[in-house]
Amino acid sequence: MTDKKLRIESRLAQIGSIHEPVTGSVNYPIYQATAFRHPRLGQSTGFDYARTKSPTRSVLEQAAAELESGDAGFACSSGMAALQTVFTLFSSGDHLIVSLDLYGGTYRLLERILSRYGITASYVDTNDLDALEASRRPETKAVVIETPTNPLMMVTDISAVCTWGKKHGLLTIVDNTLLSPYFQRPLELGADIVVHSATKYLGGHNDVLAGLIVTKGAKLSEEVGFLHNSIGAVLSPTDSYQLMKGMKTLALRMERHQSNALALASYLREHPQVAEVFYPGLPDHPGHDIQNRQSSGNTGIFSFKVTDARYVEPILRSLELIAFAESLGGVESLMTYPAIQTHADIPAEIREAVGVDDRLLRFSVGIEHPDDLIADLAQALEAARLEVEGGQSR
Ligand SMILES: *Cc1c(COP(=O)(O)O)cnc(C)c1O
Repeated sequence: MTDKKLRIESRLAQIGSIHEPVTGSVNYPIYQATAFRHPRLGQSTGFDYARTKSPTRSVLEQAAAELESGDAGFACSSGMAALQTVFTLFSSGDHLIVSLDLYGGTYRLLERILSRYGITASYVDTNDLDALEASRRPETKAVVIETPTNPLMMVTDISAVCTWGKKHGLLTIVDNTLLSPYFQRPLELGADIVVHSATKYLGGHNDVLAGLIVTKGAKLSEEVGFLHNSIGAVLSPTDSYQLMKGMKTLALRMERHQSNALALASYLREHPQVAEVFYPGLPDHPGHDIQNRQSSGNTGIFSFKVTDARYVEPILRSLELIAFAESLGGVESLMTYPAIQTHADIPAEIREAVGVDDRLLRFSVGIEHPDDLIADLAQALEAARLEVEGGQSR
């Protein structure tokens, strides 16, 4: 090979690919060991105890750092464990500015747990620099953004927020779960920390719970490394292997998720029982241009509002191919009802202010054939219409 940097598709497929001289294994083995023999007093192989550093997890962590263009990666036992580890950078009295339309679990962590340790948060539309400025206090330490947000798919201009944050000495933390490094790399746009629920697109098969943190800069990497080891919410060797196996096909899956989501969003937008579709991949979405500028593609998640809340229950009951289940980012299509599921911990007034109401459904479009997904939605919408309105088939 020349020393030209490989394209991301090749780097993904080759995660953990080693030139192992003894067996010639083409993928990296699972090292279950929790303890590592020291050659002599004062010497180490680089591995001492598995919470601190473990071979299979290290390969994953290096790949994550490299894919996100960061300096260090840390694999955690879940996305929430990754967020908790990052939030432990802050101390009593510190204040955070956080995206308004936020993952429910992150909101719960901030409001029910970190608040007890004196860490406070303000929830703002992070694409509104005036709102950011108005919520900034002397004790503000960081801006935490999700873009696009889930479930309303609001897009934030990452570099604008990073530029503003740097001016005021704030860290910018981006939850990049919905796009993955295949489509969006926030550290290249000026962010300091990227967090993933790797349970979603990176794992990709609804079968491994994991989180990742990637940091930029030696000092921050060292601080997060200290917290990762000290808190101990680290990923196991088998789950590290499982996650890497999923990541090898990330490029193929993301392309298919994107094209399927566009096909389904376009279908639903024209449907008479659908009032609104929220998808940045549609040209009239308010965040479409920013999204195209800062990312090389679109997520496979979108939300839509039906015209009548009474349709929701029969739709969820009638879907056959698409599963009614929480989570997102896997090869299997899943439909969720955010108001009572993923976002139930967010108070009703905040939820409704951003638009997460009882007519909103979130769709994580899998990699099935788009025509089969359209057919399933069509029959479920029709079944719901007949139930609610009685009367004849259309
Ligand atoms: C799922 C999710 C999380 C939490 O991750 P877990 O792996 O479920 O702990 C955090 N942020 C976003 C955007 C998510 O979708």
